[in-house]
Amino acid sequence: MGRLFVVGLGPGDRATMTHGAYAALEAADVICGYTAYVELATALLPHKPTHATGMGGELERCAWAVHEAAAGKDVALVCSGDAGVYGLAGLALELAAKEPSVDVQIIPGVTAALAGAAVLGAPLVNDFCTISLSDYLTPWETIAHRLRCIAEAGIALCLYNPASRHRPDHLRKACDILLEVRDATTACGWVRNAGRAEQQHKVLTLAELRDEPVDMLTTVFVGAPQTTIVNGHLVTPRGYRIDG
Ligand code: SAH
Repeated sequence: MGRLFVVGLGPGDRATMTHGAYAALEAADVICGYTAYVELATALLPHKPTHATGMGGELERCAWAVHEAAAGKDVALVCSGDAGVYGLAGLALELAAKEPSVDVQIIPGVTAALAGAAVLGAPLVNDFCTISLSDYLTPWETIAHRLRCIAEAGIALCLYNPASRHRPDHLRKACDILLEVRDATTACGWVRNAGRAEQQHKVLTLAELRDEPVDMLTTVFVGAPQTTIVNGHLVTPRGYRIDG
């Protein structure tokens, strides 16, 4: 009986990869995943056998991992961040249900929302929500409806998949929906390549965010109405009173 470790690698550096994730990679006979994520793993464990597939091959990748585990291998199926946040944990469990001999273990990781929030300050200290702007698996109308609800809810928002080559205008469309309810001066930010050598970030207003060029390596943060900029950092108050 093989084990299938579904591993969240974290945002990209060793410092934010959990001990559990590293241990699963070490224990595995083979590391399987999207090419860029397999490269993150093999940078640490260069001699591990790998099975890397291109973007969009999620079903094939998970099926391969389950098949190998059913054949007796220990397989690490790797995702960036956390495998349960816009990752493959759900699909892996669904496919593995057909192979009861496979022991599936989900290994949590530091998701982009948390890694990026730490770069910007403390934007997610109070209630927050994440929305993916990718309409690859979710229709845009559903995404737009969720954005309207969150704008009304008045909590901080973290946007994954804010743009790609095929949908360069999704962030602008999302900001236009938010601006129907939220102030143009709402404190916002973005982080690109969190935890990697090329890390970049910026703090800006919601009006400025609308025209900001972002890509699929970026996570975007829209503050709550109470979020402020403190010494260059985004801070969402939790309610503590420090004056007086
Ligand atoms: N499972 C991943 C998310 C996959 S969806 C996680 O938990 O983080 C892919 C999106 O995640 C990207 O478009 C981007 O918005 C975000 N992302 C992933 N890694 C990132 C990083 N190192 N820096 C900034 N954003 C990142």
